Amino acid sequence: MTTPTIELKPSARPLPAAEREAILADPGFGRHFTDHMVTIKWTEGRGWHDGQLVPYAPIPLDPATNVLHYAQEIFEGLKAYRQPDGSVATFRPDQNARRFQRSAKRLAMPELPVETFIEACDALVRQDKDWVPPHGGEQSLYLRPFMIGTEVGLGVKPSNEYLFIVIASPAGAYFPGGVKPVSIWASQDRVRAVPGGMGDAKTGGNYAASLLAQAEAAAHGCDQVCYLDAVEHKWVEELGGMNLYFVYGNKIVTPTLTGSILEGVTRDSLLTVARDLGYEAEEARVSIDQWRADTESGALTEVFACGTAAVITPVGTVKTDGVEWTQGDGTPGEVTVRLREALLGIQRGLTEDKHGWMHKL
Ligand code: PMP
Repeated sequence: MTTPTIELKPSARPLPAAEREAILADPGFGRHFTDHMVTIKWTEGRGWHDGQLVPYAPIPLDPATNVLHYAQEIFEGLKAYRQPDGSVATFRPDQNARRFQRSAKRLAMPELPVETFIEACDALVRQDKDWVPPHGGEQSLYLRPFMIGTEVGLGVKPSNEYLFIVIASPAGAYFPGGVKPVSIWASQDRVRAVPGGMGDAKTGGNYAASLLAQAEAAAHGCDQVCYLDAVEHKWVEELGGMNLYFVYGNKIVTPTLTGSILEGVTRDSLLTVARDLGYEAEEARVSIDQWRADTESGALTEVFACGTAAVITPVGTVKTDGVEWTQGDGTPGEVTVRLREALLGIQRGLTEDKHGWMHKL
């Protein structure tokens, strides 16, 4: 089975420049999509084939298509950033490609070669490069690669054919009014993932499962849910779409990957960036009781969440059944700000990329 090349069939009528510029002036998140998409098919016995870059358009699906019933679906999220010289670069796309392969394996789907994943993202960004917001702000072009099982039939089994697609959406600054701490609802009765489940895979079902918990967080006046482990309801895992870091003076600690936590690319990058800046960085289990005790004793100096969308977000108030505590004074802590600026500096081409993380197009 060979790696497919991507045939370019661009749109004869892309959105007029003036309309695109109007969208880029206030893109929001996930509301507007670029002119094109890349699609690649996989068929049993044939492998990957028919790689194409085509105009962005709806995809017709038979009502009995596998994904609509049994949710064989995985996705990724990464960003392309405008560099100071006007070129465009993505951040560690190989890491997203590898996580996509791990997700595929967990959902009994075929693994897309890393180089094909990167080439598909590159082809789309190259074609739609005018959709990458200008350098200077906190805007970017968000890429959403995903794959669905497309076999038609109601048997519960792995699909015998799949469709891989990459779409792109301009993304505005996550915090247009400046970085603000989020409040967290640590749910005692909803869990995101169980041992042996799919928590470390990026699959739609995990996010469907999170929606009710998120609504409960909002009902408790909180912005985000913090999930605890499913067995003891004690160990802090992650938020619905971000990993967590605890700052103890000069040391940052993130929960150990247990199989039910998504291995974030930002989480991994920060272990390195923190060490580069002279902090200690480690993975360890952190309990919700320890979180509270260490906040109250003052040992825990800052808490932040991290992910591709928001980069780094400070965590302020934590609420759980009957108790509540607040980290800091409502402004982002010193370590949080330093790490955020260091990572943004690399992504925006302002700081030396000493680990070779930027993939230039
Ligand atoms: N956890 C979950 C559940 C997520 O959906 C995400 C976003 N992909 C993250 C953590 C952060 O991952 P990354 O840094 O790769 O965006």
